[in-house]
Amino acid sequence: MKNLADVVLANPAARPEAIALTDSDGQRTYAQLAQRIHAVARFLGTPGSQPGDRVALLLPNGCAFVETQLGCALAGHLCVPLNLRQLPEEQQRILRDAQATVLFVHARYVDRIAGFRDALPGLHTVVMVGQGQEPGTIAYDTLFTAPHNDVRLPAVDRDSGAVMLYTSGTTSAPKGAVLTHANYLANLRQYLAAVGLPEGGVNLQLSPMFHAAGIFCLVHLLRGARTVFLEKVEPAAILDAIERERVTFMFTVPTVLYQLLDQPDLPLRDITSLQRVQYGAAPITGSRLHQAMRVFGQRLQHSYGMTEGTSHVSILLGAGHETHAGSVGQTLPGVELRVVDDEGREVATDEIGELIVSGPNVFSGYWRQPVVTLETLRDGWLHTGDLGRRDAQGFIYVIDRKKDMIISGGANIYPSDIEDALMRHPAVAECAVFGVPDELWGEAVAAAVVLRAGHAPDEAALIAYLRGHLGGYKVPKKLWIMNALPKNATGKILKRELRVQCDSGDRQAT
Ligand code: ATP
Ligand code: MG
Repeated sequence: MKNLADVVLANPAARPEAIALTDSDGQRTYAQLAQRIHAVARFLGTPGSQPGDRVALLLPNGCAFVETQLGCALAGHLCVPLNLRQLPEEQQRILRDAQATVLFVHARYVDRIAGFRDALPGLHTVVMVGQGQEPGTIAYDTLFTAPHNDVRLPAVDRDSGAVMLYTSGTTSAPKGAVLTHANYLANLRQYLAAVGLPEGGVNLQLSPMFHAAGIFCLVHLLRGARTVFLEKVEPAAILDAIERERVTFMFTVPTVLYQLLDQPDLPLRDITSLQRVQYGAAPITGSRLHQAMRVFGQRLQHSYGMTEGTSHVSILLGAGHETHAGSVGQTLPGVELRVVDDEGREVATDEIGELIVSGPNVFSGYWRQPVVTLETLRDGWLHTGDLGRRDAQGFIYVIDRKKDMIISGGANIYPSDIEDALMRHPAVAECAVFGVPDELWGEAVAAAVVLRAGHAPDEAALIAYLRGHLGGYKVPKKLWIMNALPKNATGKILKRELRVQCDSGDRQAT
């Protein structure tokens, strides 16, 4: 395989009559999907376009997303999926930054582009997916009813960009990571070598396809399996889909996993078809992890990765949960990981340092951001900005983001220690610990907590509880009870936003 589209087009596991994708509007067999990928690629390859042109997607999870993403890959264009939860102004900024020439937009978002299309003179073609007609746009269906069969497709270099994924924007503004065909094909193979998914099966795709977790759809295509897309990612709908579709694989971020675990009717639901329940993308805390282990047992998998590494760096398989719960497991075959100090020297086993990663899955750089690229990618090593440690058996533990570490009175404090303690309190549903400026200590520990239903707010009781479980210097100096924590589209808690909210004094501190 040389091209990302080969996961469908040159894949012996892809039986033509087998169903590849199901969404709320219908389904596609592998044969139909292949035909539609070709049609999209030929449309994109019409005269005037150049390999490497940026093609943006403003599409929800569904069949059209996969067809256009792989159609772009086959045509040698760079696919730029936009984050659906961003504001129109942010999407416009990305379209301008990417200098997109073509946009595929779903009918439900077409209004928002009307507002900024004139400001994007380079955007010459807008294709509308879904029902209805909109002046100035091409209906997606015409790509298949009047195909451009005469267009010849170029040979595509496997080291050219296939997809530009924006990072989640947890620590700073999202950055466009350019991932090549080779990056994707490597990470898909590395994942399968570590996890060994059987052929067939049903993947429930809960995470947005515009995120690195879109890889689960691609990995299931490679196994000739079926991916189901859900219109609404809500706990009851997820459980309904597992029962209805006999789902075998599911990836969720921790927040969605917690919601599922809190569903009162979970014990009554038939989730026996599930063979793997993978979680990752953000930290998971001790008590919740043990609750998940009681429900899902050895079906659990914990992954660690990042957009810049295409998706996966390491994985903890089901059996590993017995001995190494809380770890993100061992590196995938072909991925190298080192734990280094600020001078880039490897630290000893079990010592904490920054995790740096190399391998064929590591990205080629951020789009039009040479300075940040040089800071992040040094001598082929991706500096993840994550702090962690590795034990003697090679199991990796992610501790915290380097940017989130709190330095108070000269002591290094890892928010995850305090979050783990808070999450063991029965009243706490979710929490985030972060540093706030402090005249005396440099930084002080602050916490924001969301309570479980039925628990009355009592900041002082929570502080007293923490005093019994943590060294005094780790006990938060300020604690806020909140209705919800700010999160990004991936479901990650935005500590930088919490700091601003709490800084502006609009919350009452203890
Ligand atoms: P940005 O780079 O824009 O700040 P982001 O880092 O959240 O956003 P992603 O690439 O989606 O964007 O996320 C990768 C990061 O998510 C990792 O660097 C790590 O901090 C965190 N992460 C991923 N998996 C895990 C995990 N299993 N446990 C803890 N943290 C994880
Ligand atoms: Mg990041």
